[in-house]
Order: sequence, then C-alpha cells, then structure tokens
Amino acid sequence: MHCYCGSGLGFLECCEPYISGARLAPTAEALMRSRYSAFSAGNAAYLLASLHPSKRASESLESLKQSFSGTQWCSLRIISSRNGVVGQASGEVEFVAFYRSGEEISQLHEHSRFVCENNQWLYCDGDMLPALKLGRNDDCWCGSGLKLKKCHPD
Ligand SMILES: [Zn+2]
Ligand SMILES: [Zn+2]
Repeated sequence: MHCYCGSGLGFLECCEPYISGARLAPTAEALMRSRYSAFSAGNAAYLLASLHPSKRASESLESLKQSFSGTQWCSLRIISSRNGVVGQASGEVEFVAFYRSGEEISQLHEHSRFVCENNQWLYCDGDMLPALKLGRNDDCWCGSGLKLKKCHPD
C-alpha cells in the first residue's frame, strides 16, 4: 500500500515507523507528512503525541476522533518547507490537504510551525491560509497525479 502522504513510497517505508513510534521523524516535513497520514488512518494517539505538550490541553482524543468521522482525506501537497532539518530547533511547512466531506471537496491550507525538542519534532501551531484555486493544468486534488482537466474536470 502506498503511503497516505503521497510520497510514492510504501506506507511501511514512509510514515508508518513514525506513527507506530518505531522511529522519530527526522525533519519537520516528515513529521507533518506523518500527521497527515495519521489523520488519514484515524490515529488520534499519534496526533496528540506529535503535538507540542503546551498545546495538548486544547485537544483531546475524543475531539480528534470526532473529527475523523465524515472527513475523507484525499491528498497532501507540500507547498514549501523552511528549516526544520536535522540539527535545527524549529521549522515551518506550508501545505494543502484536500479532503472530502459528503459531496464537497475542501482544503486545509496551512502554514505550520514545528519545534525540535530532544531530537523529536513536534507540531506547535499554524496559520490558516485561503484555499488554493486549482487550474486545469494543476495536479488533481484527488491525489491521482493526473492533471485536473484529465481527472476530475468539474
Ligand atoms: Zn508518508
Ligand atoms: Zn482526480
């Protein structure tokens, strides 16, 4: 099975070792990808564990689990990464996650901030950005890798 995050790698070679706790995500972007995969796989425990401890009080396993129902994550697109590599203390990732709820396709377009503490990358917070306008020649929101016009043109 290909990883949820769209890396093209197998799940077991990509985000699974981070989600299972076998390994620590080496970069902020890898952590971001693994959090997207955990949302897709419905793993609330990992989403809490990868959240900075100062932010955990505002989240709960229950509220995360509720957010899973009715949302189907379609694809992840990393727009840009800044810092967030081995040896650094912080990093930022801008991404768009496309999701479907009912018939509607929506986007989470966010500029996220991460910190590294004791070699462990953690998600701090992010700013919501306006939805991207997809052109006909852009990659389709569904994650097929095809252009929008050849895949889901409506
Ligand atoms: Zn992955
Ligand atoms: Zn498509």
